[in-house]
Amino acid sequence: MPLLVVGSVALDSVETPSETRENLLGGSAVYFSFAASFFTPVRLVGVVGEDWPQEHTKLLESRNIDTAGLAIRPGAKTFFWRGKYHDDMNIRETLQLDLNVMADFDPVLPEPFRRCPFLFLANGSTKIQLRVLDQCTATLAVADTMDHWISTEREELTELLGRIGGLVLNDSEAKLLAEEENVVRAGHRVLEMGPQFVVIKKGEHGAMFFSRHETYVLPAYPTADVVDPTGAGDSFAGGMMGYLAEQGNFEPKTLKEAMAYGILAASFAVEDFSLDRLRKIDRSDLERRMEEYRRMLSF
Ligand code: AMP
Repeated sequence: MPLLVVGSVALDSVETPSETRENLLGGSAVYFSFAASFFTPVRLVGVVGEDWPQEHTKLLESRNIDTAGLAIRPGAKTFFWRGKYHDDMNIRETLQLDLNVMADFDPVLPEPFRRCPFLFLANGSTKIQLRVLDQCTATLAVADTMDHWISTEREELTELLGRIGGLVLNDSEAKLLAEEENVVRAGHRVLEMGPQFVVIKKGEHGAMFFSRHETYVLPAYPTADVVDPTGAGDSFAGGMMGYLAEQGNFEPKTLKEAMAYGILAASFAVEDFSLDRLRKIDRSDLERRMEEYRRMLSF
């Protein structure tokens, strides 16, 4: 089943302890789409400026990602983000964030996109996420959020949580949202705010799942080769939602498998800059890693 994503489409400059790369293809909706496209056709909604290289659109389209919802604003610049990783690559600093075209991003979904059964609201303004939800009749809507929106749009976030099936966020964000220092209690408290399930991403420690029926944690796939962690969270969400859309349901068993695919998509994404690793692999590489991952977890 098709999967719709609305979110940032960006040019990123990334500094790691060993290398700096400028103006890379990035953005939450881009990483998400790419990871999801291993499983299902993706429809992307976003906005870019006239500095956006056409080759990026071609790359997305070569992956069964429909870019009919990607608006190009003449005379404006694409969202730009510069991030720096410390020697401990878990620590990231945002050095520059130019919203540019994203400053007044207010997406109007193309008519055929409105009936998309699976929807992902990538990290962005909660007000905009609500407006997208108003235009859509998805069976499963899942959202991502971050500390900035939790602090500045809490009221809107409370409304959103009552209207979506799932929320994906990282551990510090879950603690902030729940006002609770224990991550397990935080997960349960966020669940009480409305969604059917909550996924808490814990970086190199994997991801936790919470629903009314079960709570579990899946470890990250142990990769020694972390080149650039940018997009790990979005690739996780893309792998997870892509698999759910492919299966066409979100039963507990499917959700657990989807979490595992999300973890594996993220493990590939961090092995190179931008989409460079994900673009070199196919579904069979994911399946091979899945076999290893399953063996690793059986005892
Ligand atoms: P992740 O590493 O999964 O958190 O995602 C990193 C991607 O998110 C980068 O490609 C950035 O372009 C994008 N990004 C960074 N900050 C924001 C923001 N405030 N809103 C939307 N996207 C962002």
